[in-house]
Amino acid sequence: MKREEITTIITSDLGGQTRGKGYPTRDRESRMKRGIGWTPTNSMITPLGPIAPSPWGPCGDLALRPDPDTETRVDFNDDSAVESFVIGDILHLDGTPWDVCPRGFLKRVLNGLEERHGLSVKAAFEHEFAYLGVDERANSPYALDSVRRQGRFGETYLGALEQAGITLDTFMAEYGPRQYEVTVGPANGVTAADQAVIIRELARATAWRQDQQRVSFTPLLRPDAVGNGVHVHFSLSETASGRPVNHDPDHKDGLSETAGALLSGMLAKMPAYLAMTASSPVSYYRLKPNRWSAAYNNLGYRDREAGLRICPVFDESKITDQYHFEYRAADATASPYLLLGAILAAGLWGLDQGLERAKVFEGAPQDFDEAHNQALGVTRLPTSLEEALDLFEADTDLEPIITPTLKSAFLASKRFELSLMKDLDAEARCARYAEIY
Ligand code: GLU
Ligand code: MG
Repeated sequence: MKREEITTIITSDLGGQTRGKGYPTRDRESRMKRGIGWTPTNSMITPLGPIAPSPWGPCGDLALRPDPDTETRVDFNDDSAVESFVIGDILHLDGTPWDVCPRGFLKRVLNGLEERHGLSVKAAFEHEFAYLGVDERANSPYALDSVRRQGRFGETYLGALEQAGITLDTFMAEYGPRQYEVTVGPANGVTAADQAVIIRELARATAWRQDQQRVSFTPLLRPDAVGNGVHVHFSLSETASGRPVNHDPDHKDGLSETAGALLSGMLAKMPAYLAMTASSPVSYYRLKPNRWSAAYNNLGYRDREAGLRICPVFDESKITDQYHFEYRAADATASPYLLLGAILAAGLWGLDQGLERAKVFEGAPQDFDEAHNQALGVTRLPTSLEEALDLFEADTDLEPIITPTLKSAFLASKRFELSLMKDLDAEARCARYAEIY
């Protein structure tokens, strides 16, 4: 029988879930123009499945319009169905952006940086995840044998990413049992977030083709497990010239005034937007000291426990090009668009305010008393999603760009998700999120 290829137009929703609707690939041309119907209440589907109370109910029509730059078609050549999907923007029927669309939010923030400050962003998402097709074995950190035991998964996965046009960087066995990491080259603003969606989906697509195995990007498989972080590397350049503007050779930590103001905004607002970068109840079991994740809104110089860190440069002669930063208080329960959009919205606020250059925090914040840390503007990050959502709600500085509709939809959806989890203990919650992500 002749099979009919299907392409799905996808969106990464408020809970970082990839959802969408499909059409026969041969209708590509007309679908690229008109997209496919979508409804506002789809945004209120929680990652757990049930729909949060929706202000729209059954009413309203939107369009999920594909962006041809994101067409992804990977043929595994194993007689399985071709992976064919394209990322869409959620628009009103007249073609104007719907402000709850996570991808549209990121675009608003990037436009703000460009229009108000002449700046562009390059970013790369680094993903840690569990490949569940291998046994859990002690003493596997960075082990060559852990690479070997995942069999064909890694090679097939990198082949799929390559076919999708993503610049390969590294693939490794990470510290935890069954834990692996994939990193890719930097890309411009929205493309970097698009690639994060593709990276997650192609990991799932590849695992499924290894005897229907699974990967999980959940922040923690169990409360005591090693965390799966999403670390976002980023840098700024002048849009007009393409010149990187992150490094200042005359500053003691090498931080330019422009990047310094951006980082100051990100640090100041980190507790307030954390819910958009660490978006599930289990995220907060990971964001603790001594886990190499992030527990404070501090700037570290090459410190892997800082909320933000200045990354090492391996070739001093290329320091202007290579000097960049990493945001570590994130995981894959956050939509890549909300994640990158939220940190950059805070950075944009920092630039708008003309904040002073961020200061590197010396030492580990947990080793100092609160007064010492507070004097330096450093606080413990929220320790639960409930707390993070309350701080998010209270902050109005980011509201012009995180519009009231987006904000209230996000809050309602997340609070409903929490209510579904309220009777479960940490172990049971981790088990649920391991299934979902
Ligand atoms: N697994 C750690 C995390 O939860 C990060 C380890 C690393 O620095 O690569 O973020
Ligand atoms: Mg890692």
